[in-house]
Amino acid sequence: METNPYYNPENVGFSIPPRVSRKTQSNDTIVNIGGVQVGDSEIIVIAGPCAVESQEQLFETARAVKTGGARILRGGAFKPRSSPYNFQGLGEEGLKLLSSIREETGLPVVTEVMDTRQVGLVASYADMIQIGSRNMQNYPLLKEAGMCRKPVLLKRGMMATIEEYLLAAEYILNQGNEQVILCERGIRTFETSTRNTLDLSAVPMLKRLSHLPVIVDPSHGTGLRWMVPSMAKAAVAVGADGLIIEVHYKPEEAICDGYQSLSPNEFAQLMTDLKKIAQALGREISLPKPSVS
Ligand code: PEP
Ligand code: MN
Repeated sequence: METNPYYNPENVGFSIPPRVSRKTQSNDTIVNIGGVQVGDSEIIVIAGPCAVESQEQLFETARAVKTGGARILRGGAFKPRSSPYNFQGLGEEGLKLLSSIREETGLPVVTEVMDTRQVGLVASYADMIQIGSRNMQNYPLLKEAGMCRKPVLLKRGMMATIEEYLLAAEYILNQGNEQVILCERGIRTFETSTRNTLDLSAVPMLKRLSHLPVIVDPSHGTGLRWMVPSMAKAAVAVGADGLIIEVHYKPEEAICDGYQSLSPNEFAQLMTDLKKIAQALGREISLPKPSVS
């Protein structure tokens, strides 16, 4: 059977692209984002607002997520909005704000890039560039990201199969950039009570087929603030290497995705709960020591 080129011991119905495949590299890839390692035994939580809205909003939220235990800051400067009439992001001004709050907090920054022409600009400010769900099959963008020397957070397309997702990651690795993190963020199904259907089975599947780290986005995966903590805990339980969570210092005033953003207090509580789950699984979440006041 092994001599048959179509023999597939994983029985997943497709062949696993070679560069992302665990058959080519059995040990886990560890991605280094400005000194923070994703894919090692520590579970890394990325948190921050959906979009960078203003200096006050970003800085206050960044300080709060750092206190809560986030290790990397998120925040969109170029936003992929469903409506062209909605806030599109602050652009380079937003990138500058991200870079100045990194100076203060020491948190590395991840932010989305939507266009091949912006890769150089975004990569010059960010510690990791994000390719969003809507662009997972934008092949020129994947190639451009593969040519830049920054780690890439590649989110799963909302209609992508695991095969299509791994092929998209393969485009980036093919250009010589092996610093890629996969992110399950929910797929479209017939269900409408949640924003997307968070496919947690993708986590063990991707970890089995590929050596790349896998994280989960329970915010876009559910679209419901109250459900985010449950699904974040479940994600850690199924073996995710990290999470990306939307947090806003005043969720009710957010310009974008406030209904799925945690408040700073909710985030801090979640981190405490996640730490216990991580420890039960032989993994770690290191939380900052509470400041004595
Ligand atoms: C985001 O993380 O800011 C985002 C837009 O998510 P997604 O691409 O998964 O929809
Ligand atoms: Mn969002």
